[in-house]
Amino acid sequence: MLKDQDRIFTNLYGMHERNLAGAKARGHWDGTAGIVEKGRDWIIQTMKDSGLRGRGGAGFPTGLKWSFMPKESDGRPAFLVINADESEPGTCKDREIMRHDPHTLIEGALIASFAMNAHTCYIYLRGEYIREREALQAAIDECYDQGLLGRNAAGSGWDFDVFLHHGAGAYICGEETALIESLEGKKGMPRMKPPFPAGAGLYGCPTTVNNVESIAVVPTILRRGADWFAGFGRQNNAGTKLFAISGHVKNPCVVEEAMSIGFEELIEKHCGGIRGGWDNLLAVIPGGSSVPCVRGENMRDAIMDFDYLRGELGSGLGTAAVIVMDKQTDIIKAIWRLAKFYKHESCGQCTPCREGTGWMMRVMDRLVRGEAELEEIDMLWDVTKQVEGHTICALGDAAAWPIQGLIKNFREEIEDRIKAQKSGRMGAMAAE
Ligand code: SF4
Repeated sequence: MLKDQDRIFTNLYGMHERNLAGAKARGHWDGTAGIVEKGRDWIIQTMKDSGLRGRGGAGFPTGLKWSFMPKESDGRPAFLVINADESEPGTCKDREIMRHDPHTLIEGALIASFAMNAHTCYIYLRGEYIREREALQAAIDECYDQGLLGRNAAGSGWDFDVFLHHGAGAYICGEETALIESLEGKKGMPRMKPPFPAGAGLYGCPTTVNNVESIAVVPTILRRGADWFAGFGRQNNAGTKLFAISGHVKNPCVVEEAMSIGFEELIEKHCGGIRGGWDNLLAVIPGGSSVPCVRGENMRDAIMDFDYLRGELGSGLGTAAVIVMDKQTDIIKAIWRLAKFYKHESCGQCTPCREGTGWMMRVMDRLVRGEAELEEIDMLWDVTKQVEGHTICALGDAAAWPIQGLIKNFREEIEDRIKAQKSGRMGAMAAE
């Protein structure tokens, strides 16, 4: 279990002061100018050496992403955009940072922006996060008052401004190019890539979009060293990580743990175990709603990191939002609900996603009630394959994968329900 002295987020539960004095007492804003003084190359190299992989879901190496930004400006300004549009069902970790430990994020924004030659950072906040906006804005105001932002921010010699931008609640604005479009005042619709944001992002200028947690861990990594951070987790899966565990555990929670912790240890130590015991575990979605579910018996020995969950279980760590479902769950209905979500959130720009998400949801709707033919299971599988990988952004994949996970792992349950319906053994279960 992660020791208290190795926690980056020391006020995750709001037990201490979240203001500047409280943050400083917990070691934040300590020697920030000295870190900046070490220069861009040192910061980016240390981030690469730390092994930090982006915490927004994709797991792309953060230091490498920063290195894509132009070293010299061609006259255009550069921007850091922080993706605080946390909207994936099950994911609720960034909000804890913003409402209880906002200074970790602001200090990280200053250092990361300096490393990428950006004088301006925008934080794009999920529409529903009202309290989080208030906490962040209060922290930003304090920083301006104390000279930690603005001209010569924190005495670093770097002029730096942070602006909060409140979204209107569309899930798709969490996709980085849709977020940029929305920030520019347009409809939040993903852009084709290339060009990638590092070449032409916000207002056509070099831009890096990073998740809240990815930026908030930066100052501590630079203060404590790349080796310290890389010392947690298996190779290529370094660091500490916020896990957001919801569903049928005794105590759902958000907790910082070492990457590569075992699933059983995570659940037993922090959540008090599975409701009704381990034999009652049906399925787990280990990384937010867009990754395929895994059967409970395969999850028990799982290692919670990017490579294990993808390589061994065909799922993913995603945002580390762990959704636990026990045997009282109607798993077909649970996945139908996700299909409904993705159908609702499709921006409609590309045909496979616009049409496919609706089609998949409608078939799922009938599967919940068992009012389908057995062949339709394979037809549904084929449609998910036609959507996956054929769209502008990853929402198409996100809509396809949960259904693929259901068919792969729970085909028997789907077939049983269809047979039960045909033989009149089952009362219709209306999907609400
Ligand atoms: Fe829009 Fe869906 Fe296409 Fe993404 S995949 S651009 S959400 S229609």
